[in-house]
Amino acid sequence: MRALVTGGAGFLGSHLCDLLLAKGYEVVCVDNLITGNTQNIAHIKSEKFSYINHDVTKPLYLEEKIDFLYHLASPASPIDYLELPIQTLKVGALGTHNMLGLAKEKRARFLLASTSEIYGDPLVNPQTEEYWGNVNPIGPRGVYDEAKRFAEAMTMAYHRYHKLDTRIVRIFNTFGTRMRLNDGRVVPNFIGQALRGEDLTVYGDGSQTRSFCYVSDEIEGIYRLMMSDYAMPVNIGNPEEHTILEFARIILRITGKSSKIAFKPLPVDDPKQRRPDITKARELLGWEPKVSLERGLKETIKYFKDVLSTVK
Ligand code: NAD
Ligand code: UDP
Repeated sequence: MRALVTGGAGFLGSHLCDLLLAKGYEVVCVDNLITGNTQNIAHIKSEKFSYINHDVTKPLYLEEKIDFLYHLASPASPIDYLELPIQTLKVGALGTHNMLGLAKEKRARFLLASTSEIYGDPLVNPQTEEYWGNVNPIGPRGVYDEAKRFAEAMTMAYHRYHKLDTRIVRIFNTFGTRMRLNDGRVVPNFIGQALRGEDLTVYGDGSQTRSFCYVSDEIEGIYRLMMSDYAMPVNIGNPEEHTILEFARIILRITGKSSKIAFKPLPVDDPKQRRPDITKARELLGWEPKVSLERGLKETIKYFKDVLSTVK
């Protein structure tokens, strides 16, 4: 069996390549490195692995057969997609269209990496897959939210019109090793700040909530969804919800650091609450997160300590 992973040199994509190789798949990783890095796949020595440097907003023609296509390519951190608004819209729209076309040509099963951001600033908590969301289409985050909403619509159109075998995973905040220290997301920001002895930058009053899933749990959920026969969207995330202020204190406790908290302005349209309802994942996939926040953070802190020691 051969799987293609777009965004395979990114944080989640590289962990997915590892899991697929461990399960015996041949893996083709496609990435243009716009936010990814070949460092994330440098450890892979398997002959079953290949890497193609390609921008998926352009069509991709391959000789070889593909059985499963995981489409993860897209900037994912708010800082990245605010800096790369057009590329973000293009990879969600043109990139998804091209990869659906490739899956159709190869008769491959297709999985779209969607996001909890399609719920926008949600008015219901926790979010079930039936909730349509509360998105500002013209705000700065709209480039990501609307690209992913378009990508979901396009995936369902290929499913309904072309009878393509498709899956949609709505990924909630995931963290772990191989995140970029400077990608701007809250986990690398707070850990990096704590380890460097700097103030932790809490945006707004820190009362907004998020729910953090460790990367190994997320990847297992994505794989199980691909293996299932369910074509409608499924939330994969950890339902344990924390305010960002609580989260800052957790990071200080686990790192054993005594940095202060510095309150900074809240970014425009920053969602006030986010927590997945994972009933579908539990019932359809027999999936739920196994790694506690504490254990996941300890692994991640260890990783960032190593990164910081090589930067110095
Ligand atoms: P990441 O930035 O580490 O990885 C994204 C990868 O896609 C990078 O390697 C980047 O170079 C590549 N890419 C972007 N545009 C491309 C293009 N046009 N052609 C080829 N490659 C391209 O981010 P991540 O956190 O690993 O996110 C992976 C996917 O998961 C994204 O689709 C993201 O929207 C989704 N997601 C992630 C999270 C999370 O918490 N990590 C949450 C929700 C959704
Ligand atoms: N955040 C914060 N300080 C930071 C980075 C982020 O308070 O240094 C907040 C951000 O405003 C949001 C939450 O942490 O409410 C999660 O932000 P992240 O960028 O990780 O992802 P999001 O869930 O917003 O996509």
